[in-house]
Amino acid sequence: MLLYMQTKKNYQNLISKLEEISRLKGIMGIIQWDQEVTMPSGASEARADQIGALAGVIHERMTDNVLGECLNELNEQHNDFSVFERCNIVEARREYDLMTKVPKELVQSLAALGSRGHAVWVRARKENRFSDFAPVIKEFLALKKEWAACAYPDKSAYDANIDLFERGATSVEIAVIFDQLKATLIPFIQEIKQQAYQPDTSILSGHFPVEKQEALARKISEDIGFQFDKGRMDVSVHPFCGGSHPTDIRITTRYNENDFVESLYAVIHETGHALYEQGRMTDAGDLPVSESLTMGIHESQSLFWERMIARSREFCTHYFDMICQTFPGNFQRATIDTFYQAINACEPGFIRVEADELTYPLHVILRFEIEKALFEGDLSVDDLPGVWNEKMKQYLGIVPPTDTLGVLQDSHWSSGAFGYFPSYTLGAIYACQFFQAMQGALPDAKSNIATGNFAPIKKWLNENIHSQGRLYTPQELVMRITGEQLNPQHLIDYLKVKYSEIYRLHG
Ligand code: ZN
Repeated sequence: MLLYMQTKKNYQNLISKLEEISRLKGIMGIIQWDQEVTMPSGASEARADQIGALAGVIHERMTDNVLGECLNELNEQHNDFSVFERCNIVEARREYDLMTKVPKELVQSLAALGSRGHAVWVRARKENRFSDFAPVIKEFLALKKEWAACAYPDKSAYDANIDLFERGATSVEIAVIFDQLKATLIPFIQEIKQQAYQPDTSILSGHFPVEKQEALARKISEDIGFQFDKGRMDVSVHPFCGGSHPTDIRITTRYNENDFVESLYAVIHETGHALYEQGRMTDAGDLPVSESLTMGIHESQSLFWERMIARSREFCTHYFDMICQTFPGNFQRATIDTFYQAINACEPGFIRVEADELTYPLHVILRFEIEKALFEGDLSVDDLPGVWNEKMKQYLGIVPPTDTLGVLQDSHWSSGAFGYFPSYTLGAIYACQFFQAMQGALPDAKSNIATGNFAPIKKWLNENIHSQGRLYTPQELVMRITGEQLNPQHLIDYLKVKYSEIYRLHG
């Protein structure tokens, strides 16, 4: 009995420490949001100092010896613990190990290189000078390998970096999945490019006043379930989803007066992320058990809404009239069908973030293959631009005229986020599998989308994914929901059916 009470007391201590850490991170979320959205530009230095100070406090709390002792005393296998409690202990130990295994100097070197690297990258991209950025990548590779040897001595350096974003996934497994996508998508995109019939995308051009775009985006975000009493929508340079807590989720977008599709779909994408956060289990908002699972699962939620739902014919059917009324005079030549085709047009381009759902995976695969080769010593940093352009030609049939439009386009490597890119496409595969499972459970789903009744779909996601937090691994979650492992064939089939129809490919 005494032992039982001691165990419970240790657990309570752990919980109060974890809650405090989570609340400090919530404050960090708000000052970072503020920095991107409302902060006056003159405050940037002071804010950087404030963020640094708070990061120091959070780091202290996360590596606190008392927390370590508390974890040592707790054995999560103990029968007295519920699944919920066990998950909190396991997650806290994982985080603590990760934080304490890496020497402080290495953590500081990585952080310093991250802020310097970002500034170097911004300039190198602007001036189209890869050679200025190359030394940053070289330094990062060296530090990241060192970091991997401390944090995950059992994993290869690249797998250790992938694990940060997609726990449990390995580069070998990802390569198998990506090879399967490549084998089908590359020839399929070529076939589409050669097709005589092409959707008329000119119907989407015109002038779209920002206030009207904002009102439409807000309405659609609310329709699909974003709770504005527990969230906000604002403007920032790059769209993102942030906030401090499931009751305070903040999404952003940017507006382009000549292109309403870009900002609307950015809002829908971020709303998908926001619904995941708003849908986390109640009464555990400050504990690890309730947190989102991985980057890939998070991305599955944004892509579920942005692609599987909002780029469907049913969604266009429901919103076409409203869009026409919002922008009178803009869509006189358009029909639901031509609108649907135009927003789904496949156009191989240089820029990943502007890619359609068919060419997007190839942008990701290219980056994954390059990162893998860099970590495994099969590619030297100086050869990066050449290899990048070669792969672009091979996969999409185009060669960027400058490195600014090629190897220098993404910010990820400037902050050391190696291993992040695969999550985008793993998310697309999860989204497709979840969508199919959802249709099995809700046979009326498509007609519900066509009538704007999104509540049953959101409820299904809430129950099956959002509120499950970290109770299962991603591998277990996809198995529970779909009865199958992650399987790219579903995404391939979905894309082939959809695009064959749009481009009138037969046979
Ligand atoms: Zn996203």
